[in-house]
Amino acid sequence: MTIEDRRGWLAEAIRRIEADYNRSADTHLIRLPLPRHPGITLYLKDESSHPTGSLKHRLARSLFLYALCNEWIGPQTTVIEASSGSTAVSEAYFARMLGLRFIAVVPASTAAPKLEAIRFYGGEIHKVDDPRTVYDVAHGLAAETGGHYLDQFTYAERATDWRGNNNIAQSIFAQMAQEEHPVPTWIVCGAGTGGTSATIGRFIRYQRHATGLCVADPVNSVFHRHHADPAITTLPEGCASRIEGIGRPRVEPSFIRSIIDRMIPVEDAQSIGAMHALTGILGRRVGGSTGTNIWACLQIADEMAHEGRSGSIVTLLCDSGDRYGGTYYDTAWAQAHGIDWQPAAARIAEGMRPL
Ligand SMILES: *Cc1c(COP(=O)(O)O)cnc(C)c1O
Repeated sequence: MTIEDRRGWLAEAIRRIEADYNRSADTHLIRLPLPRHPGITLYLKDESSHPTGSLKHRLARSLFLYALCNEWIGPQTTVIEASSGSTAVSEAYFARMLGLRFIAVVPASTAAPKLEAIRFYGGEIHKVDDPRTVYDVAHGLAAETGGHYLDQFTYAERATDWRGNNNIAQSIFAQMAQEEHPVPTWIVCGAGTGGTSATIGRFIRYQRHATGLCVADPVNSVFHRHHADPAITTLPEGCASRIEGIGRPRVEPSFIRSIIDRMIPVEDAQSIGAMHALTGILGRRVGGSTGTNIWACLQIADEMAHEGRSGSIVTLLCDSGDRYGGTYYDTAWAQAHGIDWQPAAARIAEGMRPL
């Protein structure tokens, strides 16, 4: 292809992604007063309202733009990702928008509704028996097809413009502008790739805010152990987070430890309990990682109140509970996994006021 032909295709690809963005509204910031702590307000950045239903919509858009502008993707490129979850769903959406073939490499154990969501947007599924091989298989498929492996765990932290360009942090600070405490005392998020925490942590510093960044992490995740001791980079075999989207067995390249001010480990039962409590407050189902965030936020709110401080805490509603009907919202599932979430749900419900 000539330079003109290549640039012509590229210009059209980028136009489609930018036009999709231009047609979209920003995600809402929901205000949640805490009755036990009148001076402290919690805010939820509702990432479930993206077209593909989760914060991974932002990541997928960034990864595609990054790959396009690097000319790693052209009109004939097969696009590949190692993901069984929301990332593959959002990437399939953008691949179809550009008329590109998309293959998600997933563990064979992946739940059917997720595979359906990937196929819904025209994505193909490549199953592997051993979940640890997804990265190598994705690399292999890229080599075989002459395709491009998007590699969310490596590129999440650098594909997003952390200084601005309406990234999630810039959007949060803009939406907080008219609030009683416009600069949050804390922003709390989870880490899957680590991309979201990297963007927020850098933006806070670049804007010279005093906001602390807290990452809430499932107990069976390596991230909080690595934060406490950088020599720890993997988890013992068989130790796995049950909270989808967050908590990893290995420290991912996109996890930037230095800009996280504190980490709070959260039990699965606490995450799922907080998720149920928030679902009751909002009147609609939220996902498990949102519960992890909420648990950590209420812990921070209790601490702030104890110190006599007032202020705001911002966290993320990462995705809706629609895809978790067969797991977190299924009593039999919780029993089978020995997850007793009711006490945690009661504790969180008591700390939050209905809207
Ligand atoms: C990916 C994901 C996260 C974590 O975001 P990262 O930017 O990848 O660290 C949290 N919740 C859900 C539901 C996710 O899919």
